[in-house]
Amino acid sequence: MSNDDIKRALDDARLFLVLQPIVSTLTFQPMFYEALLRLRLSDGGIRPAVDFIEAVEGAGLIGAIDRRALDLVVDLLEQHPAFHVALNISSLTTSDFTWLRALDRLTSDRPGLTRRLTVEITETAAITDIDRTQAFVDALKEMGCRVAIDDYGAGHTNFTNLNLLAPDIVKIDRTYTMHAAHAGNERTFVEALIDLSRTLSFETVAEGVETDASAKALADLGVTYLQGYFFGEPGLPQDVLDVGQERS
Ligand code: C2E
Ligand code: CA
Ligand code: CA
Repeated sequence: MSNDDIKRALDDARLFLVLQPIVSTLTFQPMFYEALLRLRLSDGGIRPAVDFIEAVEGAGLIGAIDRRALDLVVDLLEQHPAFHVALNISSLTTSDFTWLRALDRLTSDRPGLTRRLTVEITETAAITDIDRTQAFVDALKEMGCRVAIDDYGAGHTNFTNLNLLAPDIVKIDRTYTMHAAHAGNERTFVEALIDLSRTLSFETVAEGVETDASAKALADLGVTYLQGYFFGEPGLPQDVLDVGQERS
């Protein structure tokens, strides 16, 4: 996909969000939803984020994309006052304070909205510039947002940085959670991370749960939330949020 394609998509408003449920291990009911970006092609086809985010970062266009996703998620939260959503931002955006100012501007006259927003940042972001990332995370918390560290275990796992950032939630990468039903190094890592998170009062999300067996194993290990195709694929907000039965 070329830079022009991405710019045209932004101009034509062909970026949209889908939502994937994140369920409690106590009730197996959705507690919040992760917003994931999708691109509608001019021929009507739909591209998932995995197909274009890296190219967008390489092309220097991620600032515009993360701003668009912020606008979309604020609209969504305003339209659905009972729901809590987690938004992804690129590691490049965690040192972009103009994004934070935009969040502040968009939410200052919408009381309580930031309390329903979690911002997911990747562990690699925390590693490259820990001071700036810490200032960014502190500002988000100050505004009332929750902060999640995404893909934990996929990058250069660093307990010191995790402790410094003190996120509300740690999301454990699928490379580990997919083996949780069987004894082995991956399950040992998950167990250690759950213990550590409990001690430091972080909640945990197991990502990429695709089977009943891993859901049960991860719940038994004490993960707070589960996310993955087993509980629901990302879908359009109007379908996923079951708007007809929305609680007030
Ligand atoms: P991520 O934040 O780790 O998101 C999870 C990805 O795993 C999503 O792919 C999701 O569709 C997929 N997934 C969910 N459940 C399962 C499962 O059970 N098994 C497997 N194999 N995969 C599952 P997607 O939507 O293509 O997103 C890929 C990455 O793109 C995301 O990884 C995130 O890093 C980035 N991304 C997505 N939306 C945004 C956005 O709005 N802004 C930015 N900056 N990045 C985004
Ligand atoms: Ca994420
Ligand atoms: Ca993730």
